[in-house]
Amino acid sequence: MKQIVVAGIDAGSSAIKLSLYDGMKMENVSCPSGWNPKEQAASLLAAALAKQAVSTPAYLVGTGYGRSNLPFVTKAMTEITCHARGAAYLLPEAKTVIDIGGQDAKAIRIDGNGKVQDFVMNDKCAAGTGRFLQVMANALGLDVAEIGYIEAGAGSQECTINSMCTVFAESEVIGLVNRGVAREDIIAALYTSIANRVAAMAAAVQPVPPVAFTGGVAQNQALRRKLAARLGLEISTHDQAIFAGSIGAALYAWDAL
Ligand code: ADP
Repeated sequence: MKQIVVAGIDAGSSAIKLSLYDGMKMENVSCPSGWNPKEQAASLLAAALAKQAVSTPAYLVGTGYGRSNLPFVTKAMTEITCHARGAAYLLPEAKTVIDIGGQDAKAIRIDGNGKVQDFVMNDKCAAGTGRFLQVMANALGLDVAEIGYIEAGAGSQECTINSMCTVFAESEVIGLVNRGVAREDIIAALYTSIANRVAAMAAAVQPVPPVAFTGGVAQNQALRRKLAARLGLEISTHDQAIFAGSIGAALYAWDAL
């Protein structure tokens, strides 16, 4: 029997995520968006299809920031719709999704089938996004993954990050470093700043538990715990949470057959 494979591609600001789905198995791969996301996405797709000995997907849904720049997709869908569906696939109990990606953050309230009931999105400002975390990690001599391995301190009233603007917040971090404040305390202050920002945004959808945390930043477990404490709600994540958008796109592609 000929194998039928569909694909979902999430062309994000920092990474291209691809999910191949055959009705049973979901295969997820990613690569950096780079300076030519269209070519990056095409090569990622070609390599993943070759591995499965498939020449072309039966249907391809594109989503994410760069979806309109992907000429080979069958259909483009909004990232809110796809993230909601993908989050419900990974964490089927979820009623609310909080996604923090490279340059946006979103909160989505969903029904039991991963359909969107309400959503809010910040894509105007880097505060509370992966970009913000990345800049602050760099100011501390770390990369965005390394900062997640450092135990955050308890935090203190003397060590806070008050600026919403990424550039000013970076200056605050550099100022704290130069005052000799412990890196752990600066990290705690950073997480508080991001959690406050994201929680204030999420309030607009009246989040209900269980909450699913998706997007690249969901890999930072200390930030997840801080956000849960700030919202007063339990938040779970999944090791494939960065693929929520492409998984949702692949599921919509499967529906379209
Ligand atoms: P986009 O769709 O905008 O490309 P993603 O959901 O793919 O965003 O997330 C990418 C962001 O995730 C990057 O900007 C980076 O800051 C962040 N990120 C990547 N790896 C990690 C990690 N290990 N811990 C925390 N954040 C991370």
